[in-house]
Formats: sequence, structure tokens, C-alpha cells
Amino acid sequence: MDLYQCVLVVPFPAQGHVMPLIKLAYNLAYHGIDVMFANCELVEAKILAAMSDADKEQFPIRLVTYSDGMESQPADQRSGQGLRNSLSKVMPGNIENLIKQINHSDNREPITCVIADLTLGWTLEVASKMGLKQVAVWPAGPACLALSLHIPKLISTGVIDETGSPVKNELIRLSNEVPVFGSSELMWSSPDNPTAQKFLFDISQDVIKATENGSIVLCNTFLELDSSSCALIPNILPIGPLPAIKHLNPSIGTFSPQDSTCLNWLDKQPSNSVIYIAFGSTAKFIQKQFNEVALGLELSGHSFLWVIRSNIVNGSSPEYPDGFLERTASLGKIVEWAPQEKVLAHTSISCFFSHCGWNSTIDGLCFGVPFLCWPYFYDQLQNKNYIRDMWKVGLSLEHDEDGMISRHEIKTKIDSLLTDEGIKRNALKLMEDAKKSVNEGGSSYENFESLIKYLKA
Ligand code: UDP
Repeated sequence: MDLYQCVLVVPFPAQGHVMPLIKLAYNLAYHGIDVMFANCELVEAKILAAMSDADKEQFPIRLVTYSDGMESQPADQRSGQGLRNSLSKVMPGNIENLIKQINHSDNREPITCVIADLTLGWTLEVASKMGLKQVAVWPAGPACLALSLHIPKLISTGVIDETGSPVKNELIRLSNEVPVFGSSELMWSSPDNPTAQKFLFDISQDVIKATENGSIVLCNTFLELDSSSCALIPNILPIGPLPAIKHLNPSIGTFSPQDSTCLNWLDKQPSNSVIYIAFGSTAKFIQKQFNEVALGLELSGHSFLWVIRSNIVNGSSPEYPDGFLERTASLGKIVEWAPQEKVLAHTSISCFFSHCGWNSTIDGLCFGVPFLCWPYFYDQLQNKNYIRDMWKVGLSLEHDEDGMISRHEIKTKIDSLLTDEGIKRNALKLMEDAKKSVNEGGSSYENFESLIKYLKA
């Protein structure tokens, strides 16, 4: 058995994709695999700028870059359909050249395997063309991948049309065990924004093609969490929750520096008393809705730690309701970006007010924290259904007749969540299940071992 294998790991250039793939890369490095991690220049610059010098010194993987073909565009426009189209055009050639360049450098072993985001199927094709092993990574939950793989059937049976829009207002059942998808909850569904829908539907279809070559599909979940959806995905290998290794610093891979002052603040709060509010890297509010969140938190009377990105209100910093900051000064702490996993692991946290992105969902489940769900788009809608209805570890917020989540709804649901013993018990049970799965003998542990064997064979 050759112990010196070199793999190239390639995430889609977005925060929610880079985070799980960098955790995977760390786990591989820990198991003796030589890992190169490929980003476009913009993403690499963000990752390096957010890392401490100490983290950089102990970094066990080598970062390499490729061009995303969008260098002439402003940074905030390098996303969505434009980014996908550019990547699909330039990435195959750029990744092939990158691999050749690495393989021709004198002082290292050649790349033997490409591990790529399932949304970058063309990268897996390059690996196949070059005779390398290929492994795909699905950075969201298995239910949504199962739904993507079902798209051809949904079109052929007339449930959705060629643009992904529902034709029939009917519930979609993938199997008897998988919870139904409402026709308005299809992850690409964006009736008010056809451009966004096209992008999300194209990505969902890219994924189908990328699974057709039969490569292993890694998923940051554990089998026991959703075995019914896993059963619908050929070659899936659940290896989560990542990170399974103890010494991984969870701050590595973030695009913004994490403000650790909130950890000292949490140290001073009573156990089980603080609401943690974070909506991931892309969700945005209108100002009026932002005000309702602020006033709902104030009305609840609980302490809170709130992540407010500088672009959270339609791309800009928010304005706070009159006197809000002064009135809540002793109750609340606001940061631009938090060390989320360390926060959720803290004993002072009582619940996670979340947009239900998959990484955040896994973060919360790992630490047994109940969820208050406010999904925005894509897989978050179905993640919310799982959190609330399947695992019963959270509650969700309902919009009023104006499409807003009111301050009263927020206060009422916080009160209900924090007094629900059943939800807390379920959350703690899932936390234990998650631990078991990555401990020796657990399902994810065994799956990860088989991945390592495959890579080293
Ligand atoms: N995250 C973080 N600090 C924050 C908020 C989020 O480090 O203040 C991390 C979080 O741990 C997760 C990622 O950012 O790994 C967000 O991914 P997710 O899939 O939850 O949401 P997305 O950003 O893709 O909408």
C-alpha cells in the first residue's frame, strides 16, 4: 500500500462550500494524505486574510489557485449564474493545467485523485480524462441531492416544467420514508426571480450529470440522520459530521475574520441563557424586517449574540431601531462574524436562530442546540422541515399577511422553544448520535476509513 498519495480538493467558490471541503481536507491530511486545496484567487485571498499567523504556520494543506475567468468583474458580482457560466467554461482547462503544473514540479508526488464539489462536475470530468481517481462532495443534505436526482422524473411526469416551475400543485414524495416536498419548497424554486431560479435549477441539473460517472459522493451527514434519503443516492458515503478530528481549528476556511471577543462575553453569561442568531454568509434582509428581528429579540427579554454582516441589509450595514442598542446594551452582543462552532459549543447558548444552511444545521446538531428556523432559499427550506418535523429539534417562524416575520412572532416562538423540554431532549439525543457516528466503530468513522483505503490503494 502506497502511503504517499496526493489529492487535489476543489470546492465551489462560496463560503458554505469551502468550509466543509476544508474540513474534509484537514481530515485527509491528518490521515497521511498529501492535500492540495484549489481556490480561485479571490477566495484564497479571503481565506488567508481571515487566518491567524499561528494557523498559517500549522496549516497542513497546500493552497493553490486557478482562474475563475471573472477577474475583471467587481468582487460582489462574482457569484450566481455569471460565476457558474464562467466556471463551466474556463475551469476544465484551468484545472487540467493546474494538475499538469503540479505533476511537473520536481519536489512532489503527482496528483492521484481529484475530490471536487458535486456542483463542479466538469472538474470530475477532467480527472476522468486524465485517468485520475475522482471523488465528489455534496456540501448540503442528502434529501436535497435525492430531489435533484429526481428532476428528470419530475419533468417527464409533468410535475415541473423545463424551467423547474411546478406545473401541478402537488406534494412530491421521493419514497415512503422521505418527508414530502411541497411544490413551493423545491430548492430551485424562486417564482419572483427567474434569474435566480435558472441558476439554482441549472446547478441542480449539473449535479445529476456529475453523479453519472459512478464516483463516490461524500456527504457531511451521518447515515442515521437521514438513512431514507441516503438510500436514494447511488454511491453516497456519509462521513459527517465534519470535523471528526479533535485538533482542527474551526476558524480555518472562513472568508471573514471571526470575532472571538464574543467567547469572552459568553463566558460571563449564565448557562443556557443566550440566543445565538446567525444567518450564514448570504442571506439578506430589508431594513423593515431587520427592525422586526431587533425588536423581537428585545421583546423576548433574553440575552443574545447576533451576527450582523456588514452587507446584511440589502448589501449594506443596517440601521438599528431608535434606542435599540442603548436599551439592549446589557443583554446583547453583536459581531460581524462569529467563531460559530465554538459559540454553539458554549454552555451559555440556549438556542440557534438560524437560516438553516446545511453547515449551520450540522453545527447546531453537533452541539445539541435547539433551532428557531428562518430559511431563505435553496436547501434551507427542506432543512427546516427536517429540523422541525423529522428530527423535532426546533420550531419555525411564520410570515404574517404582509410577508413579514413580526417581532411578536419572534418573541412567541422563542418563548415556546425555550420551554420545550421535548425539543431539548431530542437535540441532545441527536448530538450523541452524531458523536457515535464519528467515534471508532460508528458509521461515519467506518465510511471515512474506507475512503482513506480507496485513496491509498
Ligand atoms: N459561519 C461562521 N461564522 C458566522 C456564521 C457562519 O463561521 O458568524 C460559518 C458556519 O460555521 C458555516 C458557514 O459559515 O460553516 C455557513 O454555511 P451555511 O451552509 O450554514 O450557510 P451559507 O453561508 O452557505 O448560507
